[in-house]
Amino acid sequence: AKDPVRVLVTGAAGQIGYALVPMIARGVMLGADQSVILHMLDIPPAAEALNGVKMELVDAAFPLLKGVVATTDVVEACKGVNIAVMVGGFPRKEGMERKDVMSKNVSIYKSQASALEAHAAANCKVLVVANPANTNALILKEFAPSIPEKNITCLTRLDHNRALGQVSERLSVQVSDVKNVIIWGNHSSTQYPDVTHATVKTSAGERPVRELVADDAWLNGEFISTVQQRGAAIIKARKFSSALSAASSACDHIRDWVIGTPKGTWVSMGVYSDGSYDVPAGLIYSFPVTCKNGEWSIVQGLSIDEFSRNKLDKTAEELSEEKALAYSCLA
Ligand code: NDP
Repeated sequence: AKDPVRVLVTGAAGQIGYALVPMIARGVMLGADQSVILHMLDIPPAAEALNGVKMELVDAAFPLLKGVVATTDVVEACKGVNIAVMVGGFPRKEGMERKDVMSKNVSIYKSQASALEAHAAANCKVLVVANPANTNALILKEFAPSIPEKNITCLTRLDHNRALGQVSERLSVQVSDVKNVIIWGNHSSTQYPDVTHATVKTSAGERPVRELVADDAWLNGEFISTVQQRGAAIIKARKFSSALSAASSACDHIRDWVIGTPKGTWVSMGVYSDGSYDVPAGLIYSFPVTCKNGEWSIVQGLSIDEFSRNKLDKTAEELSEEKALAYSCLA
């Protein structure tokens, strides 16, 4: 049997954490033949709730779950982890300025970077979920210089899956028959959900989404804003932010990264920009990627029309501003 994989979830007593840990323990993230040891971290005020989650994990008697570490000690939490899913973060409360939220979160990610660098397993893969996800991931990368930059990513898979979902609803086709949408840029309302290269499997072969929808006004308008604003729509309906879909897409992100993307299919991941598609190098930016042997690579050579170019640049600009703001908070 394979050795168990140690998976860290920070903010594990929170609502995404509560949805995510049972998925990991069930094999949704790493497969039904891969046992896991869960490391759950939260802050002292959440310690009792965290212990309750641990009790439920015991009660669920997951066959793949070989151990649970539930702690408020970041060093203990990070020890030997192979995968780190960073969900813990300071939520934006009413009346808080963007800078206040940024300031709280970047200092959390700066200190967790050091703990991961010192205590995680070599080659640990990191996924940042907590907002501002791209910029938190960038801070983590910059303050953990010995972790290879290819190992630090942020979640835009939820946005990617939302885009697949919208196309599937619009065309009344199975979501599993839709592929190769792209989320470009920031996990924020400036993200650009792009269907230019997306296709649908039909009885007549693979056909472009643009051709099947045959409504560019919808694709360039309402479709984009629906995906961008979906998080807010869920909060309005549920009175809580999206948790099950966030947790599920975090599993998709790690699974595809570790196990690989199917042939001919790409997914969206926030990764360290190397300047592809003229996106400034040195930002964590969401690109289309394929994964193989545990490594992602940015899909190259896609055509970018003027409409898309503009949107790619806008979201890059926002990320550059966030980066500057993050550094001013740390100074
Ligand atoms: P959630 O579990 O709902 O969300 C956790 C983080 O994920 C938030 O930053 C949230 O951003 C972000 N997020 C990213 N994508 C999504 C999405 N699609 N939908 C919803 N959220 C998304 O928050 P809770 O408050 O329930 O839990 C947070 C946990 O973190 C708590 O247990 C808390 O104790 C812990 N925490 C840890 C800290 C630390 O490690 N030092 C500091 C503060 C809290 P957004 O706020 O924009 O919704």
